[in-house]
Amino acid sequence: MDAAVDAGTSQFELNEDQRAIQQMAEAFAADRVAPNALDWDRNKHFPADVIRETGPLGLGGIYVSDDVGGSALGRLDAVLIFEALSLADPAFSSFISIHNMVASMIDRFGSDEQRQHFLPKLTSMEWLASYCLTEPGSGSDAAALKTRAVRSGGDYVLNGVKQFISGAGDSDLYIVMARTGADGPKGISTFVVPKDAPGLSFGANEHKMGWHMQSTRQVVFEDCKVPAQNLLADEGAGFGIAMAGLDGGRLNIAACSLGGAQSALDKALSYTAERKAFGAKINQFQALQFKLADMETELQAARIFLYAAASKLDRKAPDASKWSAMAKRFVTDIGFNVANDALQLHGGYGYLHDYGIEKLVRDLRVHQILEGTNEIMRVIIARALIGR
Ligand SMILES: Cc1cc2nc3c(=O)[nH]c(=O)nc-3n(C[C@H](O)[C@H](O)[C@H](O)COP(=O)(O)OP(=O)(O)OC[C@H]3O[C@@H](n4cnc5c(N)ncnc54)[C@H](O)[C@@H]3O)c2cc1C
Repeated sequence: MDAAVDAGTSQFELNEDQRAIQQMAEAFAADRVAPNALDWDRNKHFPADVIRETGPLGLGGIYVSDDVGGSALGRLDAVLIFEALSLADPAFSSFISIHNMVASMIDRFGSDEQRQHFLPKLTSMEWLASYCLTEPGSGSDAAALKTRAVRSGGDYVLNGVKQFISGAGDSDLYIVMARTGADGPKGISTFVVPKDAPGLSFGANEHKMGWHMQSTRQVVFEDCKVPAQNLLADEGAGFGIAMAGLDGGRLNIAACSLGGAQSALDKALSYTAERKAFGAKINQFQALQFKLADMETELQAARIFLYAAASKLDRKAPDASKWSAMAKRFVTDIGFNVANDALQLHGGYGYLHDYGIEKLVRDLRVHQILEGTNEIMRVIIARALIGR
């Protein structure tokens, strides 16, 4: 365990189990992810095999109940895992987060039959899962989504397009928010759609700034037939289900920023201790020492804040959603800034792929945009403060 992470976690007096979980995730990431992360990024390779290796470690259903193969851990445990995986590769860790978000939605809102059917294969990572909310015409304003699901006998027939779906084309299962009723959030329902559903297809892999190891594609529904038993909970419950998934997802993505930024700071500390300019190691310049001091301070503040927000969700505190939004906004902003400062401390070498810093900056940038943009986090926080 890195000294900086250790110091941060000690504020929360993690118990033995939590330390063991953290160390297990960190060891796996160091062994199976870190040596490959730059290659996966360069070659835009989706490492389904290595992702599946996390199933037997209990990472396919971190906070899913144990009767369906889940690990039944808490949100703070999950944050520790995503932070540890992200020390090696935030893009890898983020995909595992999305998969877990889907599994937990089925666990929480699915019938017993649905849970028994889908979850053992998700928790073992035999099946990988994606989350489909965003559409070409609705991102932040997710309740304006237009994908429609119409009941037809024993099926629902889906028509519409989902945009920016992580893992699309590679995942085996898609949780899809679609409109079954009137405009607005109350007309939305949630469906579990298998990859081989008739009428389901995928767009081209988007060329994007970061997160290169996972695909981002449109998911297209053209008279796509889904058995009625794949409706999750009741018609009209879908927006609440989607938002419930995001509360935990936001903490996870913040943890991915934290781990990535910690890795960037560690690299900057090593580099500035070696690199010489004007006859001295560059970490002897007080301007750079102050920069490192600020990076450490801000990262530790972010860590403590994130753990506090995760503890709120674990305790089902009434203000847990506000804290999830605050943590997502704060930690992903700090994480990006720390990674960007680490790049600057590397000079021109920070801009080269082989040093692994520019990848972290590219990967962490999108965390300020997805799972609700950081502006939308401010909307949620302000609503909680002053009402609508
Ligand atoms: C790489 C990547 C992966 C993604 N993966 C997924 C996925 O797996 N599943 C999924 O469903 N989605 C996914 N997304 C979509 C992501 O969640 C959306 O891009 C995001 O929610 C923003 O929506 P938008 O892009 O339509 O931007 P818009 O909603 O059009 O926003 C544009 C700008 O306006 C601002 N804005 C909008 N409304 C307000 C307001 N009320 N007040 C202040 N500012 C506002 C936004 O913050 C933003 O700066 C992914 C996106 C990317 C880039």
